[in-house]
Amino acid sequence: MKLRTKIQLFSSLFMLVLILIVNASIYYLFYQTSAESELEQVKSQTDTMAGELSDIMTEDLANNPDAASDLIKAYLPTNGMARVFPQEGEPLEWHRRPNAYTTLEGGFHASESQRIISPDDGSNVAVVKKPIIWSNGDVVTLEVSNHLVELDSTMTTLFYVLLAASIIILIPTVLAGNILSRFLLNPITELIRTMKENTKQGKWQKIEVDSKSKDELYEMEKTFNEMIDRLRENFEKQEVFVSDASHELKTPISIVKSYSQLLKRRGQENPELIEESIEAIDSEADRMQKLVEQLLALAKNKNEAVAKDVDMTSLVEETVQIFRGAYKREIIFQNTGDPIVVEGNPDQLEQIIYILVDNALKYSEDQVNVSLTSHGEWMKLHVTDYGQGIPEEEQERIFDRFYRMDKARSRETGGTGLGLAIAKAISSMHNGELDVKSEIGKGSTFSLILPLPKEN
Ligand code: ADP
Repeated sequence: MKLRTKIQLFSSLFMLVLILIVNASIYYLFYQTSAESELEQVKSQTDTMAGELSDIMTEDLANNPDAASDLIKAYLPTNGMARVFPQEGEPLEWHRRPNAYTTLEGGFHASESQRIISPDDGSNVAVVKKPIIWSNGDVVTLEVSNHLVELDSTMTTLFYVLLAASIIILIPTVLAGNILSRFLLNPITELIRTMKENTKQGKWQKIEVDSKSKDELYEMEKTFNEMIDRLRENFEKQEVFVSDASHELKTPISIVKSYSQLLKRRGQENPELIEESIEAIDSEADRMQKLVEQLLALAKNKNEAVAKDVDMTSLVEETVQIFRGAYKREIIFQNTGDPIVVEGNPDQLEQIIYILVDNALKYSEDQVNVSLTSHGEWMKLHVTDYGQGIPEEEQERIFDRFYRMDKARSRETGGTGLGLAIAKAISSMHNGELDVKSEIGKGSTFSLILPLPKEN
């Protein structure tokens, strides 16, 4: 069953039950009070009649029935009947409407009673019974009843009035349920339609947001559009990443391929080609290996949040020492001598130092300065070189994946354009910042800022 039908059905049914309960209560209460008051009236008429009749002797009643009859009829209710039941013998009976009481049963009763009865025809009759003592000492029961014709017709009118009122209330309720379900479900239907279309046609379609009312539906539409933006952004990034990665791999693969073909064709006659080709194939294989390792590092970094105490002073010292040995270059490391400890993943932090020092050595010829200090709640690592520098407009882009300023030179130095992107990702994972200050021809300083643990 559709949500719209459910809302409509529920609201209409709920209202119907409510109306039925309210109307039934009104009907019942009205009937009770009206019947009660009719009964009281018959009771008071019965009392008066009993007072008058007590003075009449049975014989008189038998001898002069008309006189008694006149007296009783004078007190009879509009649609009433009076009967006198002696302990033995036939009862006496007076009617206003002779046909009204053919089915009413009765007899002698020693006690007083009053009640409303409903004979088979569905009408209501108020019946009051009262024992009286004739002046000759005989005890008889006086029974006065009144056919509540007025009450019956009032109740019938009330029934139709309540029925009409129920219908009048029910129609707007059904309409309101319809409007409410439309109001609630239209944005949802629109959302479903857009999602289906996006899935079917591979689109990034958003929905129109009604910004007039800032309600939950507005929130839902806004969140959906934000989600589409995020998905699209991620998808596009992913696409660029895959195309860049395949593009980067294409060059070394085609170099390897062309050298191997060269070897196949002319390798045997030209032994000097063998040396050159093996050299080139080996270096391109190294390049591919590095590229793949870095791509893996970039993918892996996202899931490697390890929080250990890392002594950055020793870590920088050790890394710098390795570079000094490998490159035979002057690398000066300035620090206070005290250990500066941060919280993080030691392998990843070592990787950042490695990338920054490696770049400084690759893109400069002079000495490289590394300094490590702590300022309040922050640790600062600066790696300074006195090389070519980076133009201002490039300074943000060098942190993008695969971005290399000078592709030819970068190729010579074995650059992939992934190092700084990896360093940036690691620094963000450690809630830190990585940026650069540089001047063309003078050199560059890369700064890594990391938060120190609270207790330091
Ligand atoms: P690569 O593997 O090419 O070095 P990086 O992401 O580490 O990749 O660096 C991106 C680019 O930023 C490099 O190609 C280079 O042009 C520039 N770059 C990085 N570090 C320096 C530096 N210390 N001096 C000058 N240019 C730099």
